[in-house]
Amino acid sequence: MREFEDCSYCGGRVAERKVQKVCYWGEKITAIMDNVPTGVCEQCGEKYYRASVLKQIEKKVKNRRKMSMIKIPLVKYAAR
Ligand SMILES: [Zn+2]
Repeated sequence: MREFEDCSYCGGRVAERKVQKVCYWGEKITAIMDNVPTGVCEQCGEKYYRASVLKQIEKKVKNRRKMSMIKIPLVKYAAR
């Protein structure tokens, strides 16, 4: 079974890449995460995040909201 559906915009193949994700809380950057496993369309570059990955990020950002910026170790996002 493939990890990602074809791109819903252009129908291109979506492959997993490790990308940097910037999280915003309102207009403020709250977190920058490197190497987040993300589905990226090979044609148009549209990004697809897995729900499980987004949940992990959300939890971390909420827990550490008081800090102006956080860096989250990438090992936590090992693909499964
Ligand atoms: Zn696409």
